[in-house]
Amino acid sequence: MNDCLFCKIAAGEIPSNKLYEDDQLLAFYDIDPQAPVHFLVIPKKHIESAAALTEADGALLGHIFAVIARLCGELGCEGGYRVVSNVGEDGGQSVKHLHFHVLAKRSLAWPPG
Ligand code: C5P
Repeated sequence: MNDCLFCKIAAGEIPSNKLYEDDQLLAFYDIDPQAPVHFLVIPKKHIESAAALTEADGALLGHIFAVIARLCGELGCEGGYRVVSNVGEDGGQSVKHLHFHVLAKRSLAWPPG
């Protein structure tokens, strides 16, 4: 997707505060953090949102969640963390490339606003 911000970040065309990268995904710190730890995990391939996932993406999703668990361990998030993926307008999605927010190191309220 030529005009996709997160595709450009994944390709290194736009800089990010990178936390982890491999052939399938990139993890980077959110530019507008909502918690002491707030990073995003994006697949390198363009997927518009969680609503566009199919059964064929199962291995990718397993990999994403395994990486999130490892990174949270490395960052010392023993108290727990939240993984959120906003979908569409009502879900609060502003960037139309699948991403998982990972928030930690503060007590997070429920339900969200
Ligand atoms: O779920 P939503 O689409 O609203 O989240 C997009 C997130 O991407 C925001 O938290 C925003 O701060 C983050 N962002 C970023 N780097 C950019 C542009 C947006 O971390 N260059």
